[in-house]
Order: sequence, then structure tokens, then C-alpha cells
Amino acid sequence: MIDLRSDTVTKPSEGMRKAMAAAEVGDDCYQEDPTTNRLQSMVAEMLGKEAALFMASGTMSNQVALKTHTQPGDEVIAEYDAHIYNIEVGAAAALSGVNVRQVKTPDSILRAEHILPILRPMDKVHGIRQVLICVENTHNRASGAVYPVEVEAELAELAHGRGMATHLDGARLFNACVATGTCPVDHARHFDSISICLSKGLGAPVGSVLVGSTDFIKEAAKVRRMFGGGMRQVGILAAAGIYALENNIKRMQEDHDNARRFAVALAEIPGINLDASKIQTNIVIFGVRGTGLSAAQFVSILREQGVLMNPIEGDRIRAVTHLDVDRKAIDEAIAVIRGVAADGTRLQAARA
Ligand SMILES: *Cc1c(COP(=O)(O)O)cnc(C)c1O
Repeated sequence: MIDLRSDTVTKPSEGMRKAMAAAEVGDDCYQEDPTTNRLQSMVAEMLGKEAALFMASGTMSNQVALKTHTQPGDEVIAEYDAHIYNIEVGAAAALSGVNVRQVKTPDSILRAEHILPILRPMDKVHGIRQVLICVENTHNRASGAVYPVEVEAELAELAHGRGMATHLDGARLFNACVATGTCPVDHARHFDSISICLSKGLGAPVGSVLVGSTDFIKEAAKVRRMFGGGMRQVGILAAAGIYALENNIKRMQEDHDNARRFAVALAEIPGINLDASKIQTNIVIFGVRGTGLSAAQFVSILREQGVLMNPIEGDRIRAVTHLDVDRKAIDEAIAVIRGVAADGTRLQAARA
């Protein structure tokens, strides 16, 4: 099977498993797990912040951040397709009681100009308190689009000027850095909190890290505990994260090259709708309506032929490249898709 459903499907490598097996551990609820402490210091330093906290998942990092930044009833501003609102089971409402203001933008990149018109007067009794702006870099549902550092700076200036905080859902922040030659700090400096995922393109089996000031992380540790995320000898997992950060960042360029190669080939297939020039990182989203097949049908035929992908909203399909698919596998996947699309369009023509 060539599995392009997500970069979460990667399996820990031999070297990573060795690092996990050899990890020194202790009870992290007493902050006595040396490997977890090392991972947390390492990520805090990489992002230029004071402190960090290991989390079970990216969703947990994001939701702990939301709860730490807000009071029930507050408004949080995010781009229309943001993961933090759309793909986290309604947790923002369920766990923090906050309202998420979804902002639609032409290219899925949230800018200050989109927020200015929806700012509320701060002195009205009946006004909702706007407290947080969330950014997702790279943007999952926008084909892994990268937020330019200038846009992040502009959002931070707007937010901080009004006493609002900023949160970066950086599940794929390192993809953004590799794609643009920027450092994590270049992005992180504009945010009060940042979540990163170790289990996506970095290839660790589990884990995410939430980063921020010492005070913020102290509060976040209490919220994590409240959400059931206090862990014990978790250095076993933190070791995988350290290994991933030390070995798997630079190689993400291969994933980006593969995604680009895949997108360029797909764009030439009749019936497939895709602008390959928009592909910046490791996510390729394409439409298949032109082949006469629905995304669900298309994906199910692909599966029969050994290629896995996910249908998403709007009858589109998402493919994600990662360290367990090489260039040869990408070329095989392209050939399979070409065949399925050709069968679909032939059938459609026969019906017409
Ligand atoms: C994957 C992802 C997350 C977190 O997902 P988990 O599966 O909970 O680790 C958060 N934000 C974005 C943009 C993601 O792609």
C-alpha cells in the first residue's frame, strides 16, 4: 500500500526505536522525567521561548492553549478552515466555552485587513470580548500553504495593540521553515503560544509540544492535567521527539519535492482540478469532479489499486507526502491515479 492519507501514518524508524528503548525516565507529574525535560528545553530554545510542555497530541496542545488564553464566552478569531475549530470535535466550545469567529479569506491566509472590519468596540457592555487570534502555519486545508513571516508580524501587531494574544497552530511549522528557509524563531516571535506536532512529518509515533512564557506554561500544565493529559514515564515518547527533531527536519525538503512532482503530474491529467504552482509543502489537495467520479468513489477505487488517500469536504481529495513514501512510490501513485481518472472520464463520455 502507498499510504498518502496523512503524514501521521509514518512509523518510527530503527534509530528512533533504539532512542526510545534507551530513554532515561521518571515521573513527569513530578517533573522528574529527564528525557521529557530535555525535549521541552530543546523545543523552547528552538522557538526562542521560555518554556514548553509535552502533550499527547496536537489537538491537546491547541485546546490547552485555548483554555489557558480565554474565559468562557470570549471570542477567538481564526481562518475559516482552521484545524483548531473544524477538525477538533468542537472542543473549543465543549472545553473552553469560547466562540470561534471563522474568517473567510480569498487565499485562506488570514491578514490584518480581514480582521480590522470585524473588530468590536472594547467598551460596550454587551460586546463580546475578543481575546485571541489563531494562525495555522502551514495551513492544512489550504494545501499546506505557508504564512509569510510578514503576515504573522502584522497580525501580532494588531492583536497585541488591542491587548489580544496570538496562538500559532504550528503542527507543521517545520515544513514552513524548510520550504521558506526561515527559522522557527522568525515565526514564533510573533506568537504568545505555539503548538508543534512531533507525529506529523517529523515521524515520531506520538506527541506535540506547547511553547510559551514561563507563566503561560505553568497555567497550561494545570489545564493539561485537567484535560487528563498528565503523563508519567513519558520520556519513552519524548525520546522519539528528540530523535525526530535531530534527524528529520532537513529531510522534509524531499517530501516537498515529492509533493510538487505529484501535483505537477496530476495537474496534467484530464478531469483533475489542481493548481500545482500553489503547492509549497507536503500537502496536495485536488478536485476529481471532472472525471465523473465523486471523491469517495475515486478514493475507494484507488484503495483497490493499492493507493490510500482521504476524501475531504467539497468533493476534493487530500494527499500528504512523508518520510515513508519515496519518489518511486509517488510515481506509482501518479500512474494509478492516471488510470482511475481515464476510466472515469471514459465512462462519463459513454454515458453522455
Ligand atoms: C494534525 C494537526 C493538528 C493536531 O492533530 P493531532 O492529530 O491531535 O495531533 C493540529 N493542527 C493541524 C493544522 C494539524 O494538521
